Amino acid sequence: MRTLFLNPPSYDDFDGGAGSRYQATREVWSFWYPTWLCYPAAMIPDSKVVDAPPEGLTQEQVVAMAADRDLVLLHTSTPSFRLDCRTAQMMKDVNPSCVIGFAGGHVTAEPEASLRASEAIDFVTRKEMDRPVVEIVEGRDWADVPGISYRKNGAIHHNPDRLPLTNADLDSLPFVTPIYHRDLDYLKYNSPYCQYPYVSLYTGRGCPARCTFCLWPQVTTGHNYRVRSAENVLEEVREMPKLFPQMKEIFFDDDTFTADPPRARKIAELLAPLGLCWSTNSRANVDRDTLKILKDGGLRLFVIGYESGSDAILKNIKKGVSTERARRFTRDCHDIGILIHGTFIVGLPGETLQTIEESIRFAREMNPETLQVSLASPYPGTEFFRYVQDGGFLVDSVYNDESGYQRCTVSYPNLSSEEIFDAVERFYRQYYFRPSYIFKSVKKMVKSRDERKRLLREAGEFFTTMKKRREGSGAAA
Ligand code: SF4
Repeated sequence: MRTLFLNPPSYDDFDGGAGSRYQATREVWSFWYPTWLCYPAAMIPDSKVVDAPPEGLTQEQVVAMAADRDLVLLHTSTPSFRLDCRTAQMMKDVNPSCVIGFAGGHVTAEPEASLRASEAIDFVTRKEMDRPVVEIVEGRDWADVPGISYRKNGAIHHNPDRLPLTNADLDSLPFVTPIYHRDLDYLKYNSPYCQYPYVSLYTGRGCPARCTFCLWPQVTTGHNYRVRSAENVLEEVREMPKLFPQMKEIFFDDDTFTADPPRARKIAELLAPLGLCWSTNSRANVDRDTLKILKDGGLRLFVIGYESGSDAILKNIKKGVSTERARRFTRDCHDIGILIHGTFIVGLPGETLQTIEESIRFAREMNPETLQVSLASPYPGTEFFRYVQDGGFLVDSVYNDESGYQRCTVSYPNLSSEEIFDAVERFYRQYYFRPSYIFKSVKKMVKSRDERKRLLREAGEFFTTMKKRREGSGAAA
């Protein structure tokens, strides 16, 4: 079957699609790699991966690409689901014999409702998509493909779950980077905290932490951190400079790369002789000795989910890392020279105007290199979604207003959706518009022409986004 793996067109400036863990507005130019799609694509001859957002492709253009395909797999997400259904319907109208499947967290959490939402969807894969899609393309009877839900003769069927891939399975999967090289243009991918151009991949799947708002471990990847061997990672990484000659940085986009410290240390030790620069996601609880080894192995930056400066909220969301532990970790990173991109969320359970101020103060104290502030977004399948649904705090079933500006969909008795929405911009302003931060940025601009260009561009994009965001009035109506 000629198969198209599609990250479908999204809203302008929207950065919360299937490849993203959270719903967000693209404040500066940034795109995630469609890594999940590249795994099955690497196992299917004649496949093609199309990543519409960085390519700037319209619905009409991707529909034309699907005209001669036998199967199209779309990676969907909660905020983009309705738009993706429309894209699928347009494809069916042009090519009625094309089989259309949806994959991702949204259809995993709500397979029945997803299939009912659009007649254009023939099947959905639940949790990991790799093996089910390959088996469908190989022609296996759909009744014998674990992990899918599908439509047959007007009825919807749900096959049993499929066991998650094991460590050995992950090592046996093909590498994704040759597929990036084949089908994507790595120069079209940027991340606000990685050096441009960057290339990202996963060295493992799942996260042992239990954060109640976090989509992937609860819905698709699980709480068991399953990993590729350090040697397998090295084998892929070693080839990357040849595939992507201008690459400045690798991003290991595991949910929590440091969840298995001995393995993280081993990877760093194997990478050290290559002299490559890399960054990754972590929790703020890594011991100092491990940090030093990672730094020596080329680690430049951690993405750290601080989430809140209030210990009560951290407890409510089961973060498992206190502000005190995060303080110690951050001090160690600053001492050792590891940079931090700090991420915060406003509107989590227990949030008040006072806790928002605590978070802003805490962020300033942690002083990460760059900051990201997101609205709390309850995704189906998460504990946070059940919390807001049961409490009557979900005030809008619309996850995105289709203009690309994130809406606030929760409202509490003591904190309205407007107050949560407004807090995001206030948070950014109080963080970035400090004399010490401005001074640091000016120093960076003086030192490096590339940094100067980048910071000025990002500042312009940031102000434009904030303006559009205000005009878009993203609080729930
Ligand atoms: S530590 Fe990060 S990836 Fe893991 S559950 Fe919490 S937010 Fe999600």
